[in-house]
Amino acid sequence: MEKCVYCGRDLPEKPVQAKVHTRSFEVCSEQCRTRTEQYVKNDKRFKTAMYLLIFVGGTGFVISAFFGGTDSLHMLGAYIGQLVAGLAFLLMPYPVSSFESFHSMSISGVTRLTRIIGTVLSVSAVVLLALTLCGQ
Ligand SMILES: [Zn+2]
Repeated sequence: MEKCVYCGRDLPEKPVQAKVHTRSFEVCSEQCRTRTEQYVKNDKRFKTAMYLLIFVGGTGFVISAFFGGTDSLHMLGAYIGQLVAGLAFLLMPYPVSSFESFHSMSISGVTRLTRIIGTVLSVSAVVLLALTLCGQ
C-alpha cells in the first residue's frame, strides 16, 4: 500500500494531493499537505546554507585536526567545526536532493534522522570542547 510522503502512514482511500514543483505527491491529510509544502519551501530556501555550513565545518575540522600542529589546543578548531556542522543538521534538516526518495523514507522520518545526527554531532562537540578547555 502507498504511504503518505510526509508522515509515513498508510494512505486513506481518498488521499490528499500535495503539489511539489511540477508534480504532486499523495499525502494522508490536509495537515500533511501543508507540512509537505512548507518543507519543500524551506528546503529550497535553506539547502544551500545547510551544505555551506557543513562544508565550512568539515573543512575547519580537517584543517585543525590534521594541520593544526601538536599544541593540545589544536583540536579546538576541529570541535568548533564539528559543532557548526552539527547545528546545520539540527536547524536545517534538508539533506535530501530528490523528492523521489520520500517514497522510501517519509519527510518526517528524514527530518527526525537528520536532527538525531545533528544532536549527536553538536552535543559531542560541546563535550569535547569542554574537556579540551578543562584539561588546560
Ligand atoms: Zn500523513
